[in-house]
Amino acid sequence: MGYVEELREIVGPENVFDDRVECLAYSRDMSVHQGIPDVVVFARTTEQVSAIMKIAYRDKIPVIPRGTGTSVTGAVLPIRGGIVLDLHLMNNILEINKKDFYARLEPGVVCMQLNKILEKDGLMFPPNPGSEAIATIGGMVSTNASGHRAVKYGTTRDYIKGLTVVLADGSIVQTGTIAPKSSLGYDLTRLFSAAEGTLGIITEVIVKLEPKPEYGALALAIFGDLNAAGDAVTEVTTSGIKLAGCEIMDKFSLKVVEEVLQRDVSKIEALLIMEADGPKEVVVRDMNRIEEICRRYEVQEFQWSDDPVKREEMMKARGGLVPTLSRIKPGNRLVPIAEDFGVPSTKIPETIRKAQAIAEKYGVIIATFGHVGDGNVHTTFVSDVRSREEWEKLRPAVEELVKTAMEMKGTLSAEHGTGLTRAPHIGLQLGPALEIMRKVKKALDPENILNPGKMALDEDKADIYDYFAFQPLLENPEGARSLGEEADNEVLACIHCGFCRLGCPTFSVTHRESRNARGRNAL
Ligand SMILES: Cc1cc2nc3c(=O)[nH]c(=O)nc-3n(C[C@H](O)[C@H](O)[C@H](O)COP(=O)(O)OP(=O)(O)OC[C@H]3O[C@@H](n4cnc5c(N)ncnc54)[C@H](O)[C@@H]3O)c2cc1C
Ligand code: SF4
Repeated sequence: MGYVEELREIVGPENVFDDRVECLAYSRDMSVHQGIPDVVVFARTTEQVSAIMKIAYRDKIPVIPRGTGTSVTGAVLPIRGGIVLDLHLMNNILEINKKDFYARLEPGVVCMQLNKILEKDGLMFPPNPGSEAIATIGGMVSTNASGHRAVKYGTTRDYIKGLTVVLADGSIVQTGTIAPKSSLGYDLTRLFSAAEGTLGIITEVIVKLEPKPEYGALALAIFGDLNAAGDAVTEVTTSGIKLAGCEIMDKFSLKVVEEVLQRDVSKIEALLIMEADGPKEVVVRDMNRIEEICRRYEVQEFQWSDDPVKREEMMKARGGLVPTLSRIKPGNRLVPIAEDFGVPSTKIPETIRKAQAIAEKYGVIIATFGHVGDGNVHTTFVSDVRSREEWEKLRPAVEELVKTAMEMKGTLSAEHGTGLTRAPHIGLQLGPALEIMRKVKKALDPENILNPGKMALDEDKADIYDYFAFQPLLENPEGARSLGEEADNEVLACIHCGFCRLGCPTFSVTHRESRNARGRNAL
């Protein structure tokens, strides 16, 4: 009996897909990379995952765990074939303990669904990536995901109390404790955080919960000068005000969402959205102080509100940015290859200015936005994916952005992770620590079957265009014009984010990627 037959025996034939269509549908994420699995398996229990790993270990077959596949770095792509272990149906909330403030979750629980349930009890799980409506807790732990609230509440890693993990040979281990604190042994829970499935398959997560703040408000501030905006934020955060979020958009990002903003943005250099939460009297006092500070830095326009409708309106420009980036020009889409730097918050204006200078120098488009409060700058290229020249122009621009982040003593990824995209440069930041990571990997996964080929763990030579999803298009540009250029432009504008699974009737019944718009686009 072949190994695929054995997999069918473990999870049932209806949960194993080795047909070409399903495998191709799993070949993409939001990155510029691709990788095609040999088989896709839906698992629902720790025991099933363990049995699958025993077979993979015996036959040395790569296994790539997967939540929703919203990875931005190629982390979730099976570049050496093998088994994609899709865990999105392992999605039960096993326990919510309101008195000891924790929840036990299966890895496929979706972040926003969890928070909707917690809300009824006045609780929350604070990390909220932009993908919270679809991202799974297993994927969030494995990338140490975070959202705009990280400035006050931290990242996923800060909320993980314990894990159940299936190791490469199929053995099952538990890490952590539900006790509020522990000083026993190495912190293995954190070891698996941001490991991107290279060390084990997470099958249960114990998360820490927080009481939901009683009140919240949002301020929108528009500045004609980027440095003034940066100085205003620094003064706000050093004056004792604890912001719950602080977003920034530079002039190129604002140009993209000019229509949504319904104003001429030519004289605006930065837009800030600042959030505060907590007891009402404290938040109101803080909002008034934020206004005072912004006025000292010659803010062009300032408004704040606690009205949910108004707040949603204020967030419209930021929310609309990523989807709109792929509509700047026909045939263009956002290209996330150097999009997630983290720098000290005070260095944000300088980093944005340097990114703007790099864009000008190489004649490329870089829209910069991010979570200024926690130093996260998303320098996002927008490029014509059919043009070989355009791709080559991005190369030196990436190198200069990386150099800039290192000069700022920053990090090459603040929240999206390493995957394939950051593999060429990870050694620059980690130095000898990368060798320690490789030793840890070897100790836990001696046969290199867990998500192999990622994070430069087994290869020194990596290139930003390894496993390049757009290669076939460059070689056969006419191949994409089957319906004419205008129709193809729309197909190419799909960013493979996966949000379409939320409303797709064929996906909701079948749970198959090939029955969803993202999978169909990959085909
Ligand atoms: C539109 C959009 C906006 C985004 N915004 C943000 C943001 O604001 N902040 C942010 O941090 N990220 C963001 N992301 C990136 C992404 O959503 C996060 O990394 C998210 O945590 C991934 O969750 P997932 O369930 O899709 O994981 P996947 O993409 O399926 O997997 C991610 C990695 O985790 C591994 N993995 C998944 N499940 C397990 C498991 N159970 N055990 C072991 N390894 C596992 C995979 O092998 C892969 O390496 C965004 C992505 C998109 C498309
Ligand atoms: S079709 Fe789906 S994957 Fe493509 S951009 Fe729309 S929501 Fe994202």
